[in-house]
Amino acid sequence: MAIRSAQSTFLNIGQVDTQKMNKEEILAKFSSEPDRYYKVKLFEEQGFIRKSCSVCKRFFWTLDGRNQCPEHSDDTYSFIGNPPTSKRFDYTDAWRQVESFFVKNGHTSISRYPVVCRWRDDLYFTIASIVDFQRVMGSKVVFEFPANPLIVPQTCLRFKDIENVGVTGRHFSSFCMIGQHSIPNGSGYWKDECVDLDFRLLTDAFGINKSEIVFVEDVWAGGGSFGSSLEYYVRGLELGNAVFTEFQGELGNHTTLDQRIIDMGAGLERFAWITMGTPTAYDCCFGPITEKLLQKSGIDFDSLMLTRYFTEIAKGLEKYPDLSHVRRSAIKESGLTDDKMTRIITPLEGIYMIADHLRTLIFAISDGALPSNVGGGYNLRIILRRIMATIDRLGLRVDLDELIDSHIDYLKKTYPELEQYRSEVKTIIGIEVGRYHESKSRMEKIAQNLKSQKKTLNVDDMIRLYESDGVTPDYLKEYNVISEIPDSFYTKLSDLHQSEKKKAVEEFDLTGIPETDLLFYKDDPVKFDAKVLRVLKSKFVVLDRTSFYARGGGQEPDHGSINGQSVIDVTKHGSIVLHEISGIAPKEGQLVSCEIDVDRRSGITKHHTSTHVINSSARNVLGSWVWQHSAFKEKDYGRLDITHHSSLTDEEIRKIESFANTVIQKNLPVTIQEYERGQAEQTFGFRIYQGGVVPVKSVRIVRIEDFDVEACGGTHVRRTGELGLIKITKSERIQDGVIRLEFVSGRSAIEFVQKQEEDIMSIIKSLGSNREKIIKSFEHAMSDSESAKKKLKQLIKRTSSTVARQAIESAKRFGPIKFYSTIDDELDEEFHIAVGEDAIRQEPTLLYCALVVRGSGIRIIVFAGEQAQFKAGDLVKEISAKLGGSGGGDARFGQGGGKDTARLAEAISYAELLIKKTVNV
Ligand SMILES: [Zn+2]
Ligand SMILES: [Zn+2]
Repeated sequence: MAIRSAQSTFLNIGQVDTQKMNKEEILAKFSSEPDRYYKVKLFEEQGFIRKSCSVCKRFFWTLDGRNQCPEHSDDTYSFIGNPPTSKRFDYTDAWRQVESFFVKNGHTSISRYPVVCRWRDDLYFTIASIVDFQRVMGSKVVFEFPANPLIVPQTCLRFKDIENVGVTGRHFSSFCMIGQHSIPNGSGYWKDECVDLDFRLLTDAFGINKSEIVFVEDVWAGGGSFGSSLEYYVRGLELGNAVFTEFQGELGNHTTLDQRIIDMGAGLERFAWITMGTPTAYDCCFGPITEKLLQKSGIDFDSLMLTRYFTEIAKGLEKYPDLSHVRRSAIKESGLTDDKMTRIITPLEGIYMIADHLRTLIFAISDGALPSNVGGGYNLRIILRRIMATIDRLGLRVDLDELIDSHIDYLKKTYPELEQYRSEVKTIIGIEVGRYHESKSRMEKIAQNLKSQKKTLNVDDMIRLYESDGVTPDYLKEYNVISEIPDSFYTKLSDLHQSEKKKAVEEFDLTGIPETDLLFYKDDPVKFDAKVLRVLKSKFVVLDRTSFYARGGGQEPDHGSINGQSVIDVTKHGSIVLHEISGIAPKEGQLVSCEIDVDRRSGITKHHTSTHVINSSARNVLGSWVWQHSAFKEKDYGRLDITHHSSLTDEEIRKIESFANTVIQKNLPVTIQEYERGQAEQTFGFRIYQGGVVPVKSVRIVRIEDFDVEACGGTHVRRTGELGLIKITKSERIQDGVIRLEFVSGRSAIEFVQKQEEDIMSIIKSLGSNREKIIKSFEHAMSDSESAKKKLKQLIKRTSSTVARQAIESAKRFGPIKFYSTIDDELDEEFHIAVGEDAIRQEPTLLYCALVVRGSGIRIIVFAGEQAQFKAGDLVKEISAKLGGSGGGDARFGQGGGKDTARLAEAISYAELLIKKTVNV
């Protein structure tokens, strides 16, 4: 039932369970020692009793002596229509309440992190508040907290069950996870204080009667660590889960973590919902949006009926395995008629979904993500298309810009940063809506065809449809071409794209070699002496220190010499640099004199700094969604791939180029400084991760004054003036949402411009013109060539019947068929089409076959007369295959292509053989 997102195939960290089997074992173990793992001070003070659910046997802690866990109690979801608090808090107020409570109790309130998870290369989106503070170092996850203890209103994106959104009353594609995090040393606290705080948050800050609060024993395991957890419920609604990450390793063979962590995550949407008691959480979390959409749809919002219906839905979700079951049962239990279902519930579900999906898009686009067909962008495109399909289906007349405005007006009370992206969000969504309309008719046609063919599609078919035509499985499902989206679809798709990234790395045994002293990060000498520590495979040299820059971050390696022998490649393996020598390698232990190729280094360096300049220029010219996607820097050119929604116009390229050259003219200083990673993130924001994740504790920040800041390990010029000139030589859309810019700078740029000038001069010369008149002369030449073409056409027309007659006369005879063949490297296919056409009209038993050779390619033209007993298309297919190509056509005319020019004669003989066989001669 659930739609699996691309992200779910990645490593799961945060409050996402990975080790289910293991989890049950751990729970059994912990619950067998409740005093040690679960009994916090609060339980004792308040008199909580521990019970085992009479239905599911789970252990829970209660004050009112109930016998069932929250999911099996009588009061489950009874807050709908009858909230347990006297005060009402909507989404905005609920956060204010939470924030002031925790701040009063010694917590630092920090701003949310981006929903696009740039600091982790295994996640596209931030899926839990704890992810904010996780940094991956090698195979280990380390935690970096900017304050202790802290709280954060972290917007999280999850696309795992988007089918539930709008339907269940409580599933969102984005939600606010209230993150309460603490490390139990110094200023932080552990279990007793955490549960005490959460209890008081519910009772004191929200006014919930303490007897309504139930804590359920659970465990959490993932990413190699585990610990006990207490979920807290009020009337069947899980409001939060306090996880105590405490151990690492396998159960029974585990050790206590050096750094224990409290990872309490609570749903802000649920806090608002329980105090409002609305039929669904959607009714109190989107501000005025839902109301607006309701008005446009004309649904009469029968609150009592909805309360009954959604209460049944909420209860049913625990009972039944899939959503259709849940819905059926809720309809029955709440006594809904079919008419009310179609008139009220179905459109309402659509409205909730639109509000949710739009909010998710606002966060994602504001944080720099673009809808596309790749990676996380795919999820964004899907939800936008769901919005559009629903608007169409419900016949809503909505202005998306207006809804975006309402969302941001409401959200900015909690997330003020959204204000500055208002127009960007509208731009991107507007472009995507346009694309949806463009592709709709095409997708409809494809879906219709598939449906009429009654073909069963397997996963590979679906992947092909998606990759080549952009038809998503969700669309196929909506169109009833398929009934379910296979679970393996997204896994396969992401594997497909992942394997492209994997590169074979040569294996070296580097044990015992100390790390190389990197001189290019210090005074960067051109000449230096070093000691040879190891020579591997008789050509890879390890030195104790080096100024040779190793290939990395898209920057090509230095070349040069070691003891006069050429260095042709330099690579880094961990912290050891390998120099590949062409020639005789030095001996181990030898002292060698080394020199790097300054000219090459200077070219590469300029192109590297230029990528930073162009990247920021593009962002200034195009919009905030521009990020570096990847980059490549060589001696004489550079390449920068940026994220952008459309191909660039000439005007845009010119603007980016001019902007970049202004930066050069300003001669801004380029400074490099090491920062502690957390400090760099706090100071400069996540924009520093243009080149991807930095897997080290200290980051090297390359700054072009206030213009550009990036974490980068490459070599750079000292001032932008040294770049001299930046010239963009080519721009191309290389994949959905990614634009490639090729450019030259420094001396290469001058050479490029000179070469262009040369080319123009030689054109001028051959036209017999001069510089001033060049455009006019060119137009003349063009029109001359056009008229020559026209004349040629007329000539062919006039002579074709004569040529055709000659062809008929020289044709070979095979029984009742005449076969004319020619291999032609002078005249073009147009000529043969005219002649062939004429020839079969004159002679109905004729097969006309021309192989037109042009350069390394072959065009195959076949005409078959009405009595030629052969289909032209069939013959073309055979001949093309012989020539290493393909082709086809109908009975009268066929054409194809090939490339194997060595087999031309053979192909003709083969054709003759086929004809002979057919007519039995
Ligand atoms: Zn139970
Ligand atoms: Zn860089």
